[in-house]
Amino acid sequence: MKLEKVTIVGGTHGNEYTGPYLLKFLKEKNLLTKFSTFETNLFLANPKAYEKNVRFLDVDLNRSFSQEDLSNSSLGHYEADRAKVIHQLLGPKSNPKTDFILDVHTTTANMGVTLIIVDNNPFNLEMAAFVKSKIPGVSILYNPMAEQAGREGLPFLNSLTEHSIGIELGPIANGIVRQDVLLQACDSTLACLEYIEMVNNETEIPVGNEIEVFEKVKPVSFPLDSHGNIAAIVHEYLQDRDFKPLHKNHPVFLKLDGEVVLNQEEETYFPIFINEAATYYLSIAYSLTRKRLLKIRK
Ligand SMILES: [Zn+2]
Repeated sequence: MKLEKVTIVGGTHGNEYTGPYLLKFLKEKNLLTKFSTFETNLFLANPKAYEKNVRFLDVDLNRSFSQEDLSNSSLGHYEADRAKVIHQLLGPKSNPKTDFILDVHTTTANMGVTLIIVDNNPFNLEMAAFVKSKIPGVSILYNPMAEQAGREGLPFLNSLTEHSIGIELGPIANGIVRQDVLLQACDSTLACLEYIEMVNNETEIPVGNEIEVFEKVKPVSFPLDSHGNIAAIVHEYLQDRDFKPLHKNHPVFLKLDGEVVLNQEEETYFPIFINEAATYYLSIAYSLTRKRLLKIRK
């Protein structure tokens, strides 16, 4: 297998500034010239949202890439049109013009460097294992949606290609860039590209056949009042405890009248995206994951 065209995407969410700055940084510092076996395309996904420093104008671009939405000409809003343009440039899903997509995101949650896998093919899993072996403390989030919906059904930008990975970095506020986070983004991106170079050169990859992932289980809503408004805040106990075990009866919310809400889940899950700014409008406070070992090569 040889990958010839690689696309690094920033600004899929317009107020996550690390991605767009990473694209400039890679270019200005000439960091891509050391890779000789593939071409790299640096791609700003949602320029209008980036210009306005908002996540999106009308709808979330990173939920606009299901085959059904891409084929629906009656949606008529900015991100639906933008997704169709990107689909023309990088896709189609069945026969994409790029061989790999790396999509760079940031989060306000304390998630460090997290690699997100939506297609559990051996290439993506092995890349994640390789990056984790090079950069200590990296977590791997696996979204099993592709197992049910297939890649055609997935709404994410990087579902345009079979070989893809998402990088999520945090905590960082929206609309700013920090040197530490930018350098983490750069290091993890270069590790992904190094992996591709090794695959292209048929170099043996020094990782085992098992990888520990956090598999997405479900989102958890804030407690709501009778009007549907958020009626509690994330409890200080839970704040910043992303990827740490959450046991039954541990505090998760503080209601505005002072009542402490305890976790009622029987299973010990691992919460992520705790107090993520981007999901307040959906009343989502955090998501639950479960630890799982995946085989890289079946
Ligand atoms: Zn994002």
